[in-house]
Amino acid sequence: NNLKKYFPIKTSVFSKQKGEVKAVDDISFKIKRGTTMGLVGESGCGKSTAGRTILRLIEKTAGEVLFNGKDIYSLNKAELRQLRTKMQIIFQDPYSSLSPRLPIGEIIGEAVKEHNIVPKNEYEDYLDEIMAACGLQPYHKDRYPHEFSGGQRQRICIARALAVNPEFIVCDEPVSALDVSIQAQIINLLSDLQKQRNLTYLFISHDLSVVEHISDTVGVMYLGSLVEYGNKEDIFKNPAHPYTQALLSAVPIPDTDVKMNRIILEGSIPSPANPPSGCKFHTRCNKCMEICKTEVPQVKELEDGHFVQCHLYND
Ligand code: SF4
Ligand code: MG
Repeated sequence: NNLKKYFPIKTSVFSKQKGEVKAVDDISFKIKRGTTMGLVGESGCGKSTAGRTILRLIEKTAGEVLFNGKDIYSLNKAELRQLRTKMQIIFQDPYSSLSPRLPIGEIIGEAVKEHNIVPKNEYEDYLDEIMAACGLQPYHKDRYPHEFSGGQRQRICIARALAVNPEFIVCDEPVSALDVSIQAQIINLLSDLQKQRNLTYLFISHDLSVVEHISDTVGVMYLGSLVEYGNKEDIFKNPAHPYTQALLSAVPIPDTDVKMNRIILEGSIPSPANPPSGCKFHTRCNKCMEICKTEVPQVKELEDGHFVQCHLYND
């Protein structure tokens, strides 16, 4: 709710004046248990920062993050440590997040032991079961990360996250570094695990076709703002925000009825350290009006659960 994450910066090397980057600038949404919210936007729009702030891997600037109704920012260290197992993250680059010096069985099982997820005498069987559930051969547990392919390494990361029995997983571009042929396998694995274990995902990606495949709800970020958010059908079949429309017009989405003309986004994404006034998208928007240049649009609910932040929808 109203989550903000600002990073302090020096505005210039010559001045002592300090500024801030509003990496996450007042965003609100909910994810229902057992569903996936896709979070899309160009690189640098704040998706990953949002994911990390939601897990309290980095501290928020303002707002609250409710997990099962409790604000995780109100927890003390011990309570947060307890909750850590319930909230996991999977990164884009599976290799750099795996220690090269540990065999994969230890990588996957480390936190299982630390948090006593299963009794000691059940540990080996449990490890085998988790590995098998992630499409890994349990007899490979003594091998090292470099002995595996990119797709298998991502399976190892998923197994490590899964092993502590989480409820919620932030998947931060989990397939972006993988070959297209492998992407579908990993997406399908995540979907299967979700069904089996009633997992909840925040799925961060710049790739709309991937998000379309896995999400129930979708949020679109631009320069730290959540400019549109709704059910997948709302976003893909009936996009309201000019930025969402432009993003969608650039990708072929197979099962959408919308035949959109390609909207070319003018210019590049402005620096988040110095975002445009008013609507941050106004410098690139093909529907920009005078008011857009000076006034920040309010978030408006168009229909049930479909939110947009754009002056076109304000009276
Ligand atoms: Fe475009 Fe104005 Fe809407 Fe911003 S508020 S997206 S500039 S129409
Ligand atoms: Mg990122």
